[in-house]
Amino acid sequence: MKNFKKLMLVLTAIAMVSCGEKKEKEQIKLTDQPAETTESVTQEKSAQDENVVEITITGNDQMQFNMAEMKVKAGQTVRITLKHIGKMDKNVMGHNWVLLTQGTEIGAFGQAAVAAKATDYVPAGTTQVIAHTKLLSGGESDTIEFVAPAAGTYDFICSFPGHYAIMKGKFIVE
Ligand code: ZN
Repeated sequence: MKNFKKLMLVLTAIAMVSCGEKKEKEQIKLTDQPAETTESVTQEKSAQDENVVEITITGNDQMQFNMAEMKVKAGQTVRITLKHIGKMDKNVMGHNWVLLTQGTEIGAFGQAAVAAKATDYVPAGTTQVIAHTKLLSGGESDTIEFVAPAAGTYDFICSFPGHYAIMKGKFIVE
C-alpha cells in the first residue's frame, strides 16, 4: 500500500496550499491630495449682460418641447436658443420656435402656416409673429435675439404642420 500513502501525502499537500490565506488588498489612503484651488473662477457678469436673459429650449423626435413656460421681464433682451436634439430631418420632424402676438389663435395660425413651407412655415409678411427661429433638422440649433414685448402672456409654438397642438407653451413677460 505504498502508493496509497503517497497519494494521501499529495492530497494533504494540495489541501494545505488551497487553504492558504488570501491577502486582503490594503487600501491605500491618499492623505496628501493637493488643496483645491481657491481662486474664484466665476465669471463676473458685466452690467451690460444684466438685461439679457438666455433661454435654451429643446425639441425632440417625439414632437416635444422640453418646457411649457418661459418667464422674462419687459424690455429685457431675450436670447432664445432652440436645439433639435433628435435625428430626423426637418422635412419629417422639423422644429422651430415661434412667438405669437397676443390675440393670435394658435389653431388658425397653425393651419395658415401649413401653406408657408417655402418660408419655414412662417407665413411671409405675417403680423402675428413677434420672433421666430429657423426651421431645424435633428442635430441643428438656432439662436435668436429680440426685446421682450409688453408685460403679458404670449403663446409660443412650433409651426411645423401638426406640431402646434402639442409643441406649445406660454411666454410670460413680467
Ligand atoms: Zn416641431
